[in-house]
Amino acid sequence: MSRFLKQRYQAMEAYTPGEQPRDMEYIKLNTNEAPFPPAPSVLEAVGKEDIALLRLYSDPTCSALTEKLARLYGVGKENIFLSNGSDDILNFAFMAFGEKGARFPDITYGFYKVFAQLHGVEAEQIPLEEDFSLDYKRYCAGGRLTVIANPNAPTGMSIPVWQIEEILRSDPHRVVVIDEAYVDFGGESCYPLIEKYDNLLVVRTFSKSRCMAGGRLGYAMGSAAIIADLEKLKYATNPYNINRLTQALGEATVDAEDYYRAMCGEIIRVREWTAKALEALGFRVLPSQTNFLFVSHSGIGGKALYLALKQRGILVRHFESQRIRDFNRVTIGDKRQMERFVETVKDILQEAGYENK
Ligand SMILES: *Cc1c(COP(=O)(O)O)cnc(C)c1O
Repeated sequence: MSRFLKQRYQAMEAYTPGEQPRDMEYIKLNTNEAPFPPAPSVLEAVGKEDIALLRLYSDPTCSALTEKLARLYGVGKENIFLSNGSDDILNFAFMAFGEKGARFPDITYGFYKVFAQLHGVEAEQIPLEEDFSLDYKRYCAGGRLTVIANPNAPTGMSIPVWQIEEILRSDPHRVVVIDEAYVDFGGESCYPLIEKYDNLLVVRTFSKSRCMAGGRLGYAMGSAAIIADLEKLKYATNPYNINRLTQALGEATVDAEDYYRAMCGEIIRVREWTAKALEALGFRVLPSQTNFLFVSHSGIGGKALYLALKQRGILVRHFESQRIRDFNRVTIGDKRQMERFVETVKDILQEAGYENK
């Protein structure tokens, strides 16, 4: 740290992304990326002409992509906000709506806490229940910006839309952000509620279910007024924050809905297969509506399993925080990768002397 950094940033703890090691080829099950490439039409969507056009600024309004998304969901163009990944949108949401503080679960996406600190927003972390479920009543009323990942990460569990509606209704004077990064893997989206509740912001990403984590593209849906607030902050920071190539790839992605629906279906099937295989090995597997599983085993510690897997070329995500240190978060890869994963886990358990009955 230099002596020049503003005091308020000195004690701030930044987000720790999942590791992306380059020392060898790993089976990467640690950052919830898709195991499949984008749709064939997306691979063809950008050519030399588009690269040549990089001399020009990108469209700050993302008009073509906004229109496609508006048509897909049957909402107005003024109800859609696009930005450089959904992290970027969450950042703006904390910046814009955190005046009276923010409220989110103790076990959830680690970035919420970072954004709260970054913007000097007082954070109230509400513990999940003993079984990692979320009691919606604890988010009713309270007057603070409320942020809920649904389905939640890293637990993988979700709450039904009627509970979100109760939260929205309980206090119309604060914004409720529902982060739907994983909704395409079996959750239920609450975006139809934006018509009825002007305090709802639904945040989505192309990173997980649209195979575009490296493209950096996220979008949000909400009332025209809330969207206008976010636009204001975007134009105050970086109006061209989605590059031309990503906009073109995003448009082609929206046109390939069928491909991605089928892919999510396949990931769900492989998830269910993996969950059964792990349960048969004695794992506790939380119910998942996402492209990952959150698992623990009484015969081996979370960190020990993470390290043993890494040594054998498989990366999963382990978190050090007290309540979940027995667990690992395992991204669902393709069938072949998950077979390798299960076989490797079996070997590790055997070596650790755990006898499976
Ligand atoms: C991955 C993830 C994001 C970030 O997505 P980007 O669009 O890649 O920035 C946001 N929220 C949750 C819960 C996530 O898991």
